[in-house]
Amino acid sequence: MAREKLDKQQVAQIFSECAVLLELKGENPFRIRSFVNTARQLQSLEGDVGEMLATGEIAKVSGIGKGTIERLEEIAKTGTLAEYEALKQAFPAGLSEMLKIPGLGAKKVRALYEHLQISSLGELEYACRENRLLALEGFGVKTQENILKGIEHVKRFQGRFLVSTARRVAERFLSELRGLAEVEKAEVAGSLRRWKETVKDVDLVVATADAAKVMDWFVGHEWVASVVGHGPTKSSVVLGNGLQVDLRAVSREQYPYALMHFTGSKEHNTVMRGRAKERGMKLNEYGLFQGEDLVKCEDEAAIYRALDLYEIPPEMREDHGEFERAVEPLATLVTREVLRGVFHAHTTDSDGSARLEEMAEACRAQGWSYLGVSDHSQSAHYANGLTVERVLRQHEEAEVLNRKWSDFVILKGIESDILMDGSLDYGEDILARFDFVIASVHSHFKMTEEAMTDRIIKAIEHPATTMLGHPTGRLLLSREGYSLEMTKIIDAAIAHGVIIEINANPYRLDIDWRFLAKACARGLLVSINPDAHSIEGLEDVVFGVGSARKGGLVPAQVFNTWPLEEVQRWLAARKRRTSGDASV
Ligand SMILES: [Zn+2]
Ligand SMILES: [Zn+2]
Repeated sequence: MAREKLDKQQVAQIFSECAVLLELKGENPFRIRSFVNTARQLQSLEGDVGEMLATGEIAKVSGIGKGTIERLEEIAKTGTLAEYEALKQAFPAGLSEMLKIPGLGAKKVRALYEHLQISSLGELEYACRENRLLALEGFGVKTQENILKGIEHVKRFQGRFLVSTARRVAERFLSELRGLAEVEKAEVAGSLRRWKETVKDVDLVVATADAAKVMDWFVGHEWVASVVGHGPTKSSVVLGNGLQVDLRAVSREQYPYALMHFTGSKEHNTVMRGRAKERGMKLNEYGLFQGEDLVKCEDEAAIYRALDLYEIPPEMREDHGEFERAVEPLATLVTREVLRGVFHAHTTDSDGSARLEEMAEACRAQGWSYLGVSDHSQSAHYANGLTVERVLRQHEEAEVLNRKWSDFVILKGIESDILMDGSLDYGEDILARFDFVIASVHSHFKMTEEAMTDRIIKAIEHPATTMLGHPTGRLLLSREGYSLEMTKIIDAAIAHGVIIEINANPYRLDIDWRFLAKACARGLLVSINPDAHSIEGLEDVVFGVGSARKGGLVPAQVFNTWPLEEVQRWLAARKRRTSGDASV
């Protein structure tokens, strides 16, 4: 019988993965050790495994016993081991990834999986940032810090980055570049300038008369781990965290065209080139040309004008409806500066790291006039969710604080779990005490699309619900959202006057910006919510602003740009509806 050629490395891999999975299962250490040893022996085997198996020579290799030979026969016949396949079924694939983190053994990984349902690196990272691990036996602040460091390490070569990571890098480079005497202008380009939710690299464009000098400075920057390319006008470097940064230098004259070209998107640029062609011109990174002559444009706005369009903000350049809008001047989009307060913030009462007063004072220091606090509800045991008694205590505290300020108000809210059947997490009498209720799914993610859609719509229909929290539950770069029909969810939210949040946490950015333009044009109201678990977390609103701008939203469409009095009036009107319904 003809045998498939057995690849030594692949076979060894099966054995070593079995060892990992057995470890997760909590198997006998000797059995695990034997799989590890076999994997090692197979790797260092001289000669072809398949042949040695056929001739029986394999039995002579020390340490390879009858059991191993039977397994090798099975692999030769079926390409895998039934035992291995069964083990793989038992655990999510992400767990083996988690085992790569230094200091995180199988026992800890199993505890994380069993008690916190964490099954991927991304979920683990998110949980660390929310201090979830502290509740587990054997985990402390130090372990949590080490895990975060380990995750950084493992993720280094994954190839995509959260917008927050890339922004931090870009802003430092930009401010330093702008400080160089040789640099006239500097800007971020690429998907980062468009505020895409994740990015592959950071693109920077500068206008300078001395490109060589700027390039030398760039490749010599202290953050650079390796130089991928060092040319006269273009260089690429990789930083310690694995992020690639590209810098292009052009003349002042070429700058607006280059900036537009490297900002993209590719799809947007294609339409722009087409428009140029229709007008007998040619557009590329070097300029806009009529024949051989440059059509002089001082800035990007001038390029749009030359092609009979009004300026399109970088965030919207996705060929996602922006050209239809730019035939007339675009209304001013929402910005970070026009926010007047925030909803969706956690305190030490549930899983946040700052007390209510500290969170409120931090908002007040921003010049905001309200904080909508929303700790977790009672079913969220993993997040120290609030019992009825603790809800009442927090309300008392908020009222005491509110009497203290004349320029600031804490709005009393809750992030209520949407239970399996779509109901909220407290009785009507308690729900009626909140100024607002954010309804979010935090458990039972694996439902059919239909069941999940119905579950969420039921929560939207609940008269106490003010906002829908992170509608898909996605964690960027690590967990897909649960399956649901977003258009039906949006329809229900519009019909029932429920706000959908743009969860601005850079790990989430949920609702996805791609839905915003259409939904808000149909009357959906959104709110840019930081889902802050710390004072620093409040600043995550900038990422939500990025999403809102990608959707082309104007301030009126974003609830937390409204002044306090309007917010309170709107909330009070909803509450009247709530109590009215409840009394029927
Ligand atoms: Zn949540
Ligand atoms: Zn939250």
